[in-house]
Amino acid sequence: MTVAPRIGIGYDLHRLAPGQGLLLGGVRVRAVVRAVAHSDGDALLHAVTDAILGALGEPDIGELFPDNAPENRGRDSSDFLRHALGLMRKAGCSLGNIDIIIELQQPKIQPYKPQIRKNLASLCACDLDRINVKAKTGEGVGPIGTGQAIAVRAAAIVLNDE
Ligand code: MG
Repeated sequence: MTVAPRIGIGYDLHRLAPGQGLLLGGVRVRAVVRAVAHSDGDALLHAVTDAILGALGEPDIGELFPDNAPENRGRDSSDFLRHALGLMRKAGCSLGNIDIIIELQQPKIQPYKPQIRKNLASLCACDLDRINVKAKTGEGVGPIGTGQAIAVRAAAIVLNDE
């Protein structure tokens, strides 16, 4: 019997404030802003973690890692992703692919895409071609377009290996 692949979606938004740069997929992005956050503010890793948790039918990242818990203050968001990947493997599943959209007005993300893909593939222990990163501006309108926020959307497919 074949078991159907399961899809999950993840979304995260962080407010931006003047600062020294952004962290996206564990990659330092040069910027004049930072993401306001309890953890390290890596919206991409948060969205990807939630996509994988969603595919598994697990509670979301905010339930697993509350933003008022002292142990999550400034926490490396790759910890959250590693936890989700651990649950995935424990369930006898593996990653199909991940597709990501970064919504940010400035700076342009294009130069950082290869490094983000590489870093994420390394974290997920999967081939590079299973990770895709797209980027969009907010067209100058709304919280994204006026530089008040960054948002990231992610979709993940999880395959049942049994
Ligand atoms: Mg977040």
